[in-house]
Amino acid sequence: MNEYRLPNAKQARFRNKTYQAPIIYDAVKLTDSQKKLGVNLNYHVITYGCQANVRDGEVISGILEQMGYTFSDALSKADIIILNTCAIRENAEKRVLGVIGSLQSYKRKKPEMVVGICGCMPQQEQMAQNIVAKYPIVELMFGTHNISSLPTLLENVLTTRKRNIEVFSALGSIYEDLPSVRQFRHKAFVNIMDGCDKFCSYCIVPYTRGQQRSRRWEDILKEVKRLKEEGYQEITLLGQNVNAYGKDLDQGCTFADLLEKVSDTGIRRIRFTTSHPWDFDDRMIDIIAQRDNIMPFIHLPLQSGNDEILKLMNRRYTSKQYKELFDRIKEKIKDVAISTDIIVGFPNETEEQFSDTLKMVEYCQYDNAYSFVFSAREGTPAARIEDSVSLEEKKRRLQRLNERLGYYSKLNNKKWEGQVVEVLVDGFSKTNPEIMSGYTPQQKLVNFSYDNAQIGAIIYVKITQGMKNSLNGVQVHPGKENHEQY
Ligand code: SF4
Repeated sequence: MNEYRLPNAKQARFRNKTYQAPIIYDAVKLTDSQKKLGVNLNYHVITYGCQANVRDGEVISGILEQMGYTFSDALSKADIIILNTCAIRENAEKRVLGVIGSLQSYKRKKPEMVVGICGCMPQQEQMAQNIVAKYPIVELMFGTHNISSLPTLLENVLTTRKRNIEVFSALGSIYEDLPSVRQFRHKAFVNIMDGCDKFCSYCIVPYTRGQQRSRRWEDILKEVKRLKEEGYQEITLLGQNVNAYGKDLDQGCTFADLLEKVSDTGIRRIRFTTSHPWDFDDRMIDIIAQRDNIMPFIHLPLQSGNDEILKLMNRRYTSKQYKELFDRIKEKIKDVAISTDIIVGFPNETEEQFSDTLKMVEYCQYDNAYSFVFSAREGTPAARIEDSVSLEEKKRRLQRLNERLGYYSKLNNKKWEGQVVEVLVDGFSKTNPEIMSGYTPQQKLVNFSYDNAQIGAIIYVKITQGMKNSLNGVQVHPGKENHEQY
C-alpha cells in the first residue's frame, strides 16, 4: 500500500491553536488536456450525508463539467461514478460498501468506467485501508481536503490505468472560486467554514474534516451577492458549527456580525445550519429576531437531556443551560420553529438517564427532530467505552422517543391550519402533477394545489391540514380576490 497516500488517525486528531488556514483562490486550474478529458463522456455523483457533503457534491460535479463531462442519471451510461460519502454512522458506511459491490456488474460491462470514492469515509485510516485492500474496483480515492486535486488524480487514472489513491489528514485549507453545479436555481448552500474543534466524544467529523477554518466574510459576501444577482431567493449558510464562525480568524467578525452583513445584501431568505448550543449567544438571537430575511427556524441539537450523558458526550452544556437558551430563542424570535438531533443509547445510558431526554422533549415540544441509536465510530472516545445496554433495548427506547417526537411534530403542524403562509416553491410532487411543494419560513414542507405557481417563486398558501411531517394547502392570492380573508 506504500504507493498510496492514506490518512493518519494521529494526525487527524492534532490541533494547532495558532493555525491560520491558507486561503487558496482560484483553486481549480485545469490544463488544456484536463479540459478535454471528459468530452463525450458521462459522469454520475452519488452523495450521502449532510448538507456540507451535498455542497461538496456540487463542487465535484462542477469540476467534472469543466473537464467536459456531461451528467447522466443512468449509472449504466456513466463513464465515471463518484461516491461522495458520509461516516457519521455505521449504517451509512455499510450502504456505501454495498453500492461499491453492486457497481461490479456495471464495471464488467464497461471496463473503462472509473469508480471513485471521496468524502468522510476514506478520511478514516482503517476504512481507507479496508477499501484499498478489499475493493479493487475503486481506482480513484480522495478526501475532504483535496477535492481540488480531482482533475490531476482522474487524469492519472485515465492515462496510466493505475489506481490513484490520495487522502491525507491535515489541519486544512480554505478553497475559493471552486466551480460548482448547484442542485437548485433558487436556493443555494454557502459554506462559511469547514472542520470542527468541538470533539464531541461520539463524533467522527473533527477527524474527517480537520481543524475549524472560517472563510473570510468578504469572500462569503461576494458569493451571496453573486447568488442574489443570479436570482437565488434563499441561501443556507453551512458549517459543522456555524455559531463558532470567525473564532479562528482575527477579522473581528462573529457569526452574528456575519448574519447582519448577509442580511444587508437583501437576499430574500437566509438560513443556517448547524448550531451548537454552546456558541449560541444572545446577540445572534437578537439579529435573527430583528431581521425579516433571516428565517425563524433553528436547528438546535440536544443529543441528550441528561447531564451525566451530556458530560460524557463532551457537549459542554447542561440540560438547564440548554433549556434557558431554548426559552430565550422562543421568547425573542416570533413564531420560531426549533428542530433537534437526539442520540439514544449512548454507552451505558440508564433508563433514568433516557427518561431525562424524554422529559426534555416534553418541555421543548420540537417542531422536528432527527433521532438515532448511538453508532460507535472507531477512533472516537465514546467507541472505547464498554457498553452494557443491548441494541434491542436501544431500539425500544428510540421507538418510545419517536412516538413523542412525532406527537409534537404533528401538534405544531396543526397550529398552522387555517393560516396563510409564504412558501418558496421547490417543484412538483413526484406522484401528482397537480400538486407542488415548497417550504415555509419555519422550514415546514408544504404540499399544495396551485393555479399559477412557478418553481423558485415565493407564493402564498392557505394551510388546510397539518400532518406529522408536512402541511397540506392551497395557493391563495392575498391582495387580489381573496384579500378580505386576510
Ligand atoms: S459540534 Fe460535535 S457533533 Fe457537531 S460536528 Fe463538531 S464534534 Fe461533531
